[in-house]
Amino acid sequence: MRIEIIPCLQDNYSYLIVDEINNNACVIDPSEAEPIIKFIEKNNINLKYILNTHHHFDHIGGNIDLKKKYNSIVVGYKDDANRIPEIDILVEDNQLWKAENFEAKIMHIPGHTTGHISFYFFKEKLIFTGDTLFSLGCGKIFEGTYEEMFTSLNKIKSLPEDTKIYCGHEYTLQNSKFCIKHDPANLDLQKKIIDIKKKLVNNTPSIPSTLKDEIECNIFLRANNIESFSKLRDLKDNF
Ligand code: ZN
Ligand code: FE
Repeated sequence: MRIEIIPCLQDNYSYLIVDEINNNACVIDPSEAEPIIKFIEKNNINLKYILNTHHHFDHIGGNIDLKKKYNSIVVGYKDDANRIPEIDILVEDNQLWKAENFEAKIMHIPGHTTGHISFYFFKEKLIFTGDTLFSLGCGKIFEGTYEEMFTSLNKIKSLPEDTKIYCGHEYTLQNSKFCIKHDPANLDLQKKIIDIKKKLVNNTPSIPSTLKDEIECNIFLRANNIESFSKLRDLKDNF
């Protein structure tokens, strides 16, 4: 399997996970159809599945057009069936979703929205975290509670440290400014920031990150109780 990163809209990333044996692929969170279609046509990819982490427009915007064009099957969380366009397969927490050579564990990670899920491709050791865990940040709490978001982040935190993190937005540099403000002596963070800047200067995504990096550098994963997590989340909202 190989991962392709497709920038969409302002600062979104959609991802393709491509089976190199047959060029079949899943798209994760197609913000819009056009950049995905362009990439697929150029690379002769068969878009078999559309995987949605949550229902926000910048994660599902391409569903209808892509399904119409490629007959792809849309996969999303069961409780969001009425707000994920064209949903076909309803998945739930802890379920193993398996199709062709694709195999992902579904993790329900509410907080940003009540129906947010992540797709954990455990064989490939990578996870698509949508707007829950960002590199050096976490999603805004729109529908859930602080507790839910904290629990969701801790669920991700318990995965193997070499898990690659693919999130929904290129927010890393902006996020790093908040982290360094509240954790100025963190050497791993200082190193990570230099790294990020190098990538961005070369027009390369800062994604994927690794869980190890996030545990060392992401202040929201470093918060070890709900009080400090909530306080940081509030501060970030006004940062
Ligand atoms: Zn969102
Ligand atoms: Fe988003």
